[in-house]
Amino acid sequence: MRLNPNIPWKTRGNGAISIEVKDGDSKIIKKKVEGLVNKYAKFEDKKTNPGFVILDNQPSSNIYEKCVKGIVTLKETEKLLNSLGAIYEGYKNKRGLIGATASIAWSPKNDKTYELIAYREENKWGTKRKVNIESVKKMNDIFSSTFDNFDYENNHNRLTPSSPCPVLYGIRGENIDDLIKASSVLLSEKIQSRMIFETNQGTDDHLQRKNISEIKPYQSVITKGTVVSNPHTIEGGHVIFTIMDSTGKIDCAAYEPTKQFRNIIRKLIIGDKLEVYGGVRKEPLTINLEKINIKYLKKQEKKVENPVCPKCNKHMKSKGTGQGYKCKKCGIKSNKPIVKNINRNINTGFYEVPVCARRHLSKPLKRMKP
Ligand SMILES: [Zn+2]
Repeated sequence: MRLNPNIPWKTRGNGAISIEVKDGDSKIIKKKVEGLVNKYAKFEDKKTNPGFVILDNQPSSNIYEKCVKGIVTLKETEKLLNSLGAIYEGYKNKRGLIGATASIAWSPKNDKTYELIAYREENKWGTKRKVNIESVKKMNDIFSSTFDNFDYENNHNRLTPSSPCPVLYGIRGENIDDLIKASSVLLSEKIQSRMIFETNQGTDDHLQRKNISEIKPYQSVITKGTVVSNPHTIEGGHVIFTIMDSTGKIDCAAYEPTKQFRNIIRKLIIGDKLEVYGGVRKEPLTINLEKINIKYLKKQEKKVENPVCPKCNKHMKSKGTGQGYKCKKCGIKSNKPIVKNINRNINTGFYEVPVCARRHLSKPLKRMKP
């Protein structure tokens, strides 16, 4: 499972795994896990801060909810683990304990997906991965229950990680049988082993509905509002605009890595109403957009001609900027020029960031039930 993606002090993978075992002796399990951590953890990486937890009973799912949506301190985690009589060990800054605890507390009753992870042979770790791109595209075309495989717009293979880890690729999907078949379509270097995980990836579990004034840093939120400042591009190619509801205002951003998504955002104008989905950055308080649902598009009009006098059937003259029009002949006044609707080139409905910019936890639109 993945944890709150907006936590600045998150561990390297920001994820945790839990395994259920039967009839084990906790002390023996502890020895084995310690051996594995000491053998495989990359302690030299600053952000590697592992932790493991052994519990006889599953703690409340509220603990998971808090770890995926909010902020949980190490102190409160250790306090909880002590009260539950857990056997545990944290390494370095020990923050891995938070995720490990959350992972045991997760019970996927609302939504879940699967990920098939294929592992590399140990002598290949750290070398360039060999996964045939055409076979990834083919797999993507055949198995519609898989998602986030390949970014066609940006020619990015999302199956393979970029770190020197033992993972060759991960295929995300809805269905275990399809994942196994999908894996057999891929042409790649020799696989050492495969494992299928139940996960909270692609579920939007991190998001919570909030009024704008209730939004706090490091949360991930869904909030509704009306556009009150037109989108503008700042240095670095990030696109920023402001929305407002009856409780307040907040900036929204489509950052440069969201690529083509920014072109959608640039089409928004003051008066549009939408629902935004994203993680909250602290300074300045900004929603980092993962997707939007446009509910209403404001009509955009453009003046084409001065109004025509209803009596004389002639075009009126402008009295100066913002001062309306007047018929030169009979003196009739009007302030309504002849306008036409501008095609907004955008529709109501959902828009999401491309696959290359997708957060692990973000639910892709293809998974959203209407
Ligand atoms: Zn007239």
